Amino acid sequence: MPRPDLLNRLAQAHADRAQADLLRRLRTVREADGAWIAVDGRRLLSFASNDYLGLAQHPRVTEALVDAAQRWGVGATAAHLLGGHRAEHEALEHDLAHWLGRERALLFSTGYMANLGVLGALLGDGDVCVQDKLNHACLIDGARLSGAELKRYPHNDVDGARRQLDAAPDAGAVLATDGVFSMDGDVAPLPELAALCRERGALLHVDDAHGLGVLGADGAGSVAAAGLSAHDVPIHMATLGKALGVAGAFVAGSAALIDGLVQFARTHVYTTAMPPALAAAARAAIGLARFEHWRRERLATLIAHFRHGAQRRGFVLLPSGTPIQPVLVGASGDALRLSRDLEARGFYVPAIRPPTVPNGKARLRVTLSALHTETDVERLLDALALGGAQGMQNAH
Ligand SMILES: *Cc1c(COP(=O)(O)O)cnc(C)c1O
Repeated sequence: MPRPDLLNRLAQAHADRAQADLLRRLRTVREADGAWIAVDGRRLLSFASNDYLGLAQHPRVTEALVDAAQRWGVGATAAHLLGGHRAEHEALEHDLAHWLGRERALLFSTGYMANLGVLGALLGDGDVCVQDKLNHACLIDGARLSGAELKRYPHNDVDGARRQLDAAPDAGAVLATDGVFSMDGDVAPLPELAALCRERGALLHVDDAHGLGVLGADGAGSVAAAGLSAHDVPIHMATLGKALGVAGAFVAGSAALIDGLVQFARTHVYTTAMPPALAAAARAAIGLARFEHWRRERLATLIAHFRHGAQRRGFVLLPSGTPIQPVLVGASGDALRLSRDLEARGFYVPAIRPPTVPNGKARLRVTLSALHTETDVERLLDALALGGAQGMQNAH
C-alpha cells in the first residue's frame, strides 16, 4: 500500500469545510482605534474582541510597555529557569497572586500553554480529568496530552460531573472547567463544583480567561464573584490577553502547586520567557482593571441594554450575564450570511461555527466592551434586525 498523501488529505479536508460553510478566513486588520477596526479598506465597529475593559490601547499600558522595552529591550533571551526570569516577571507574579488572594502565581506565554503545563504536571496514566463538554480546546488538549483519561460531562451538569468522578473513585482526579464559557458567556456552577470536588477528593481547576477583570468586585474573576477561596479552587488559571488587553497567562495557587509547576510544567520549562515589557504592560493593566470600577459598571449597563433590546426584537440569546452575548442562529450558512450582512452595514461580528461550537448551534458571538456606547449597541441591534437575526434559529 502506498503511503497516504498528507498534503492532499489536508487539501481535501479544506475543500470539505468550504462545502459545509465551515471555512475560516484570515482577515488582516490594517488599523485599530478602540472598538473600530479597518478591514479590506473599510472601517468597521467591532463587536468581536475580548478587550472587555478597553485596555489594549490604553496609554498607560502602552507607556509601561515602551518604558520597559527601553530598559530591557525586547526578548527575555532564555527560558525562565535559564536566565530569562526578569524582575518584571517576578513583580507581575507577585501582583497577580496578591490580586487573586493566592500564595503564588506562575507566568506562561499563553493560556494554551498554561493549561497544557498544569494538567501535564499534575496528571498521568491511570488518572482522570473530568471536564465540561464546552470547555476551551486547550483544556481538552491538556488532558489528552497528560495521558490521563478524559471524561466529559454535559454542560454545567454537576450530577454528570459527579457520575464521572464516581466511575473512577480511586484515580487521581482533576475537575477542570471554564469559569466563563468562551462561546456561550455563561458562568460555571463553581460553588457546587467546589463542594463536589471537596467531597470526592478531586482538584478543581478553573480557567478564568473570560472572567478575570470582568467579574468580582475588583475584577478578581468568577472565583471571587462566587465567594470561593483558594481552598475551594486550588488551581486558578487565567490569561492576560483578554480583559487585561496584553498577552500571556498565569496559574495561581499554593506555594506547593507553583513549586511543582516550576519543575514539571513542560510549557514553562522548555520555552522562552515572555518579553519582560509585556509583563510591565500587564502590571499597568492590572492597576486599571482593579481600581477603575467604572469600566465594569459601563459593561453591566451595556450588557443589560443589549439583552433587553435583543429580546424585544426576538433574537435567540443564551443565558449569559457577561460581555459574551451570543445570538444563536443554528445553521452555519445562515450565521455566515448574517455576519456578512452586518459587515455590509459597518459591523464586525464573526460567525462562530462547528467544531468550535456544537453542530446546529452556529451563532454570532457578540462581545461588548467598555469602549462601546449605548448608541453603538442600539445601532448593532438595529442592524441585526435588518439582517433577519430574529427567529432564524426556528427556521431550521
Ligand atoms: C483564550 C482562552 C484560552 C487561551 O488563552 P491564550 O492566551 O489566548 O492562549 C484558554 N482558555 C480559555 C477559556 C480561553 O478563552
